[in-house]
Amino acid sequence: MNEQADAPVILKGKPVADLILENCRQRVRQIVDATGVQPCLATVLTGSDPASQKYVDRKAKLCQDLGMKSIKVTFPETTTTEELVAKTRELAEDPAVHGILLQHPMPGQIDERAAFEAIGPAKDVDGVTFYSFGTMTYGLAGFDSATPGGIMRLIRHYKVPVEGRHAVVIGRSVILGKPMAMLLLDANATVTICHSRTTNLPEVVRQADIVVAAVGKPNFVKGDWIKPGAVILDAGFNPGPKGNVGDVDYDDCLPRSGMITPVPGGVGPMTLAVLMEQTVTGAARQLGVETAREPAAV
Ligand code: NAP
Repeated sequence: MNEQADAPVILKGKPVADLILENCRQRVRQIVDATGVQPCLATVLTGSDPASQKYVDRKAKLCQDLGMKSIKVTFPETTTTEELVAKTRELAEDPAVHGILLQHPMPGQIDERAAFEAIGPAKDVDGVTFYSFGTMTYGLAGFDSATPGGIMRLIRHYKVPVEGRHAVVIGRSVILGKPMAMLLLDANATVTICHSRTTNLPEVVRQADIVVAAVGKPNFVKGDWIKPGAVILDAGFNPGPKGNVGDVDYDDCLPRSGMITPVPGGVGPMTLAVLMEQTVTGAARQLGVETAREPAAV
């Protein structure tokens, strides 16, 4: 037997994200040529979490690289929901802003849902509002929740078979687990959603052709939970002593998997790419410019 043929496929996100971003760059140019306006992403950071600060800065840098503008709004840890909602509404009404990202998690006193809903549908480029969840669930044009949207693009790029397959999503958060399950369902998978009250989780995961880990616990999914040849998509991103680690115990799961995303360098870059792409799409819609996603850009 050719051992090489059986080696797991590593689903690297960076090259796929780069294709999407290159297409974004072209579309930004088209928008600027047609209107003289640069697409603009506003990020709102509440509190002083260094990791969140780093993510927000990375988004601003990427905007600059793509020829876009960005605005960064920062609030102290003690900010109230009312203050955050008021600023978010102001950004939603500002015609120079085309997409809004509220960095989360937010401090405990903030009503995150109220803050997210203040974005409104047109600028919800991170796909966090009720409206976006609705359009995504109905398979209508709208904005996907960025991480699940990025995972679907990875799936498409690497031609991961989804139709008729059993997908098990571990996690049911409104920004990750639930929208992920809806997108997989829309792609004709048979979907099981697991959460902290699921009994006998390893046994459920063992039945999966596709496993999506969105738990928030480092190295949570173990190798002996994996059906041989299964596809493992790790959305997890947990700070560890030697850098960030996923929700999947990669070394343990790798030998049994057919395809697997690394952390870092798997789902993370895809989330960012989808956020940028949706900001460009938002700008194009708001400015009335036709720009198209290149077929090559997945
Ligand atoms: P979250 O809101 O904390 O949700 C975690 C989910 O996991 C919940 O549904 C929870 O169940 C479930 N869960 C917790 N313990 C479990 C257990 N023992 N067994 C089964 N399920 C369990 O987290 P999130 O925002 O969805 O994020 C999940 C992970 O993705 C995190 O590592 C986060 O850092 C990462 N993330 C990555 C990106 C990216 O760009 N790559 C973006 C966003 C998030 P209950 O509902 O029952 O509590």
